[in-house]
Amino acid sequence: MRENPLILIVEDEPRVSRYLRSSLQMSGYDALVAPDGVKALELTQENRPDLVLLDLRLPRMGGLEVLENIRRVSDVPIIVLTANDSEEDKVRALMLGADDYVTKPFGARELQARIVAVLRRYRSAETAAPRATIYENKDLRIDYAARQVTINGKAVHLTPTEYRLLVTMAENTNRVLTHDYLLARVWGAEYADDVHILRATIWRLRQKVESDPTNPKYILNEPGVGYRLQRLTPDSESTEV
Ligand code: CA
Repeated sequence: MRENPLILIVEDEPRVSRYLRSSLQMSGYDALVAPDGVKALELTQENRPDLVLLDLRLPRMGGLEVLENIRRVSDVPIIVLTANDSEEDKVRALMLGADDYVTKPFGARELQARIVAVLRRYRSAETAAPRATIYENKDLRIDYAARQVTINGKAVHLTPTEYRLLVTMAENTNRVLTHDYLLARVWGAEYADDVHILRATIWRLRQKVESDPTNPKYILNEPGVGYRLQRLTPDSESTEV
């Protein structure tokens, strides 16, 4: 991470991007602006920003498509900016790999708080002291030192947040973890009510580790309470992918 984290602002309205840029600069960030999706992809690859603020309402290539394209090439943390009335976009953005969202209109302080929280999460994922142990649960294997997850020997690529969520659940195998606990533990205390983010990240994790994500064997729902990572016995049905 640079001395001043570099934030890429993807926003087509000059009035809004100017406001965002100056408020970020005043808070000690460096900021770049991309007015459209094509430019956003270009700047993401050329400048490797520490975080992307992505407006979902963009001309030509829409925000969700930009998000998908960025995720193909980068794990950079992404916060999407959504309109108040677009609950569906919010959920889709999270499912596509956004780390967080801020609803318009928002204040500079609210945005700041989210940026700080997301950067903190990524940084702690990078610097967490590696444990020299291996977690094994039938086909699922986590190599903590290498920070690598495999299913049936096949490497699974997880974003830092997905990895943190999986590790938190693995450390508590067979125990029910409440929504609040997982949100506070993986995202931070200020996320306690944000079940959307948790649900979408669980969904993404299932797509990556479950052989049939609609009929999960590892990551189980405890309706109204939370989630539980199930210990599978060696002779239980195989989860080949
Ligand atoms: Ca816009």
